[in-house]
Amino acid sequence: PIYLDHHATTPCDPRVAEAMLPYLVERFGNSGSRLHAYGWEAEGAVDIARARVAELLCAERDEVVFTSGATESNNLALLGVFQASRQARRHVVTTAIEHKSVLEPVRWLERQGCEVTVLRVPRDGRVREEHVRAVLRPHTLLVSVMHANNETGVLNDVAAIGRLCREQGALFHTDAAQTCGKMPLDVRALHVDLLSLSGHKLYAPKGIGALYVGPRASRGRLAPLLLGGGQEGGMRAGTLPVHQLVALGSACEFAMAEMQEEGVRLLRLRTRLLDTLRERLQGLHVNGDLDHRLSGNLNISFEDVDGELLIERLQHHVAFSTGSACMSTSLRPSHVLLALGVSEDLANASLRLGLGRFTTQEEVDATAEHIVRAVEEARLPSTRGNA
Ligand code: PMP
Repeated sequence: PIYLDHHATTPCDPRVAEAMLPYLVERFGNSGSRLHAYGWEAEGAVDIARARVAELLCAERDEVVFTSGATESNNLALLGVFQASRQARRHVVTTAIEHKSVLEPVRWLERQGCEVTVLRVPRDGRVREEHVRAVLRPHTLLVSVMHANNETGVLNDVAAIGRLCREQGALFHTDAAQTCGKMPLDVRALHVDLLSLSGHKLYAPKGIGALYVGPRASRGRLAPLLLGGGQEGGMRAGTLPVHQLVALGSACEFAMAEMQEEGVRLLRLRTRLLDTLRERLQGLHVNGDLDHRLSGNLNISFEDVDGELLIERLQHHVAFSTGSACMSTSLRPSHVLLALGVSEDLANASLRLGLGRFTTQEEVDATAEHIVRAVEEARLPSTRGNA
């Protein structure tokens, strides 16, 4: 099938895989070995990788903590800030559309007695400064709002939220798993104190990520989750997977050089896909704001369509994702689409399409044909033929 599920994961760029390979075989040293050239070589590679990640974020090298991915980065940010806080009353703010790797740690904090506010989101799916402002309290410890949502691709107004948090003395964390490497990121312009990213969303392998830790979040304000050999300045113990770091660094370098052009190309392809579908199909809804959205994302629903049949008809031709309940472990449609006020019927007939670096125009055109055919076949009997 045509791969249009780049929000779930991206293939490792062959150039990235090539950069990584020597560190699996010849250059296998432990970057913590201080006495010999094997260690020094690994340490040098780690330094370069760290510098590349830092550069992509406009951060300093010593502000990058390597982790196993965005799940770990999110856990470290939320649980780590909570653990380190000596405040008697603690309040944490997040949103209903976050990834589970934010929502579940936040639930855990709540069980530890932390006050929690989970913000509702408007229909367009965009979290704005005024939403956060309305719930901030003097003792708010941390605010966590994702940069772009992984289902709708909608971009939240994180720069304004970050500025607000800074003014009010709360720490600000953003989950940038979907934006890192896709659009320019500047941790200072965004006023973030903590930022999560994941390698496998930007053409590096799975199992590697990072947490940016800014000056306001360091120095005793973040406690580590993993204790041991004191790696990563004591913030994350464990022998560094040097080959993975090299891959992430390499992926950051390619992203930096190519993201602008890639973004323009993906936006053009997405627009072409949406225009074709709108022309040929009735009852198409775009879920979430279209103008503030990752260029490679399209999340659409169809009226009067049997969602299960639509998915069944399409899945062997196109690799996509859905907010449908029948694909969910919880038997409920996507918590993100429901939070946007999308009806269960429309959520069940939703397609999340994620275009990526290697997606071609031919694939997009073929996808449009497959979707048109699948939607027509899945139209509910009462409406079939009316369009
Ligand atoms: N946050 C967001 C927004 C994501 O899209 C994902 C991946 N689906 C994660 C966190 C988890 O990242 P990882 O797979 O690196 O743990």
